[in-house]
Amino acid sequence: MNHLDTELSQSRRESIKKLGLGSAAALLGLFGSMSTRAEAKETSSYAKGVAPIKIKSVKAIGTAPQGPNLVVVKVETTEPGLYGLGCATFTQRAEVVVTAINNYLNELCTGKDVDNIEDVWQSVYVSSYWRNGPVLNNALSGLDQALWDIKGKRAGMPVYQLLGGKVRFAIPCYAHGDGKTPEELAENVQNFMNQGFRHVRIQQGLYGATSLAKNPDFKDAGFGNPKDAFMDQITYMKSVPKMFDVVRKRCGEEVELLHDIHERLEPMDSINMIKSLEEYRPFFIEDPFSPENPKWFQMLRNSTTVPIAMGELFNNQNEWKEAMINQWFDYIRIHVSQIGGITPAMKVARLGEWFNIKTAWHGPPDVSPVGHAAHAHIDLAVWNFGIQESVRFNDKLLAVFPGSPTIKNGYMYVNEAPGLGVDINEKEAAKYPISNKAGNWQVRKRDGTIIRP
Ligand code: MG
Repeated sequence: MNHLDTELSQSRRESIKKLGLGSAAALLGLFGSMSTRAEAKETSSYAKGVAPIKIKSVKAIGTAPQGPNLVVVKVETTEPGLYGLGCATFTQRAEVVVTAINNYLNELCTGKDVDNIEDVWQSVYVSSYWRNGPVLNNALSGLDQALWDIKGKRAGMPVYQLLGGKVRFAIPCYAHGDGKTPEELAENVQNFMNQGFRHVRIQQGLYGATSLAKNPDFKDAGFGNPKDAFMDQITYMKSVPKMFDVVRKRCGEEVELLHDIHERLEPMDSINMIKSLEEYRPFFIEDPFSPENPKWFQMLRNSTTVPIAMGELFNNQNEWKEAMINQWFDYIRIHVSQIGGITPAMKVARLGEWFNIKTAWHGPPDVSPVGHAAHAHIDLAVWNFGIQESVRFNDKLLAVFPGSPTIKNGYMYVNEAPGLGVDINEKEAAKYPISNKAGNWQVRKRDGTIIRP
């Protein structure tokens, strides 16, 4: 720096100093008027940008108002009245997630800055040294979503605004159609179409058509548990093309039809069955293989042009790298609480944009309305949105979770409240305690061999 530069620099510093004093006074005035405006709109003190705010406690709330166990994380902060909610539901092992949250995340996160979501995420992710398991990922997801909820409340904005704002006015979603016969199913699909749905997932006799199967030999032999389900793979394989045929003929070309194989077939059977569905133009076929066997996807891609959805069982965002590079799937079926929350789901969604692979977040009944809201906020903001799975919320669930997303004419809507927009009534939630009774999902072949459920 030469002499002239030094002088200029000194005078600039002086000017900034003077400006600083002057502006401070001006700003006081400005803050005064802002505060008047804020009071008029009754903005909460925490939404005025006061920092730093720390995490005061992290706790789990278990509730099962609609049947499935739900686990919600509540993050309380040092700012009175400011808290966030996130979905940490791993319905089959709910009590283990509750322990992970109350016994580990609470201690680890207390005192951390609520604003630093990425830092909190990265630190929690590696803090157990061993990572990538569904229990810890669900706990982390609940925390992550709760921090986004808090950030939205602090900004006075719905979370979708923080993710970039709306790309669409609402979220097209699909409903679940099932029936004992293809004809009964077609009626069910028609009912959804009458409600305005343009996409329906069709299953006949539950996943793998288990309710169509008869006479399991393993039960006669006293093998396994009497409650174990029996799936006859041949019965299922034969039923699916017939189901598509009947529903297409009865419901027409307008409706988009989806189907979930749920990893229940042998790889070649799965490929052959999907090929036979081409003439019915499925919107997508889901989970043709288990995630343990990804290399079959290349063969599937070489065999058929039916769109494929995959990934609800992926534990880690890195599992998408190979799948995306090889363009094995068309739809990203991430279970947002399994993958670790909004933060990693957004990363995968953005990665998908580069490959024209679209989102289709996993949205079954074992996701709380807070989790469904998290899906919806991402859906509103990402360009490469594909479709959203939806379920009906019953009155008990809605009483526990005021502000839940709503569905009208086949579209999901979030309310415009700051954050994720969903609250929890803890008194109501306590009426429906979680249990460990529904945790075991056992499906067997005729000889008793376990099938991926
Ligand atoms: Mg599925």
